[in-house]
Amino acid sequence: MRRANMSLMLRSLRSGDPRSRARLATETGLSKGTTSTLIADLVGLGLVREDERERTGAVGRPGTAIAIDGGRVFGVGMEINVDYLALTVVDLRGRTVHSAVAALDIASTPVAEVLDQLARLIEDAMRLARARDGQIVGIGIGAPGIVDLESGSVRFAPNLGWHGVAVARELAARLGPAGPPIRLENDSKLGAVAEFSVRENQDIEDLLYLSADVGVGAGIVAGGRLMRGWSGFSGEVGHLPIGPQGVACPCGRTGCWELNVGLNAFLALAADQGDVVHDRSVPLEERLRALRGRADSGDGRVLAALSTLAANLSIGLSVLVDVLNPRMIVLGGYFPSFSDFLLAPITAALEARRMDLGSSAILVGSKLGLTSAARGGAQLVLEDVFEDPTIAASK
Ligand SMILES: [Zn+2]
Repeated sequence: MRRANMSLMLRSLRSGDPRSRARLATETGLSKGTTSTLIADLVGLGLVREDERERTGAVGRPGTAIAIDGGRVFGVGMEINVDYLALTVVDLRGRTVHSAVAALDIASTPVAEVLDQLARLIEDAMRLARARDGQIVGIGIGAPGIVDLESGSVRFAPNLGWHGVAVARELAARLGPAGPPIRLENDSKLGAVAEFSVRENQDIEDLLYLSADVGVGAGIVAGGRLMRGWSGFSGEVGHLPIGPQGVACPCGRTGCWELNVGLNAFLALAADQGDVVHDRSVPLEERLRALRGRADSGDGRVLAALSTLAANLSIGLSVLVDVLNPRMIVLGGYFPSFSDFLLAPITAALEARRMDLGSSAILVGSKLGLTSAARGGAQLVLEDVFEDPTIAASK
């Protein structure tokens, strides 16, 4: 009961400005006495603080206002990508306090070495939290492919060449007893969690997030909830059979959509092999900036590649719109680097195929950059604190 009330109070504080105990009591329907006790408990756990003044706008002496304390409790999110590892540290107020991206060609790096590097990134974050006298409540890691939530392992990630990698167990062994709890989730699903939380229109409950690097995947939020499917396989849209017929995909199938719209397909269309944009030792963001520069200066080859990409994206998105009826579609991964060239032709293609008279889905490029999955991972573990604030005590 106490735990549930603490959760209610913390969630109530998450939305809106800092405010007085009296107002919080009214909003939550709890008595003033209970409210004061709960707030004292939350202050004790380092989750809220009472040094801010209530902004009522009323004349007179301002009262003490209660606010979520962002400085003590952190969630860490990570992404294992084909081309890089990303880490982000988010505080309880949702602010990013640290992030790091390390370029790494994962498929040609031994798994143990990738795990060592992940562990080092986590240790950096743990040092940062300690230096602020704070704690990391959990680590949410996104990986491409099929993930087993229960064991925290990657069952199959074709573009990494990983089969049955026990990520959570291996990292826990490297971090030792001081290591925070680890959760593994599919990267596109974490990207969807992050995009859903930063959507400007809070009325939107049905969102489709399309992530794109070498692989392409979708994270689906339906009715405000992340859709996983019965075995967590939902959203593997990169392997829909709407790509180049007969061409083999690392997943074992042929003709997959990501062979048309994934990063490698786009790079092959946009530049010859040997061009710097194919060099995987160069950070992806730098390579995308170079291509974006060429598009802006009217490079015919890059513009033709973008036009082909828009056409191929439209085919798959029209299928997804028919199946899922999203209100909003967010293009992530490498797509937002080219939003100006992609959004208009895709919107027009979707509009041309629309059957009903209702309004179409809103198509936008992600504003979170390449690390939206990492951000989603951090939010996933911080959500556990809002669910059960007492976990912050187990330092
Ligand atoms: Zn495939």
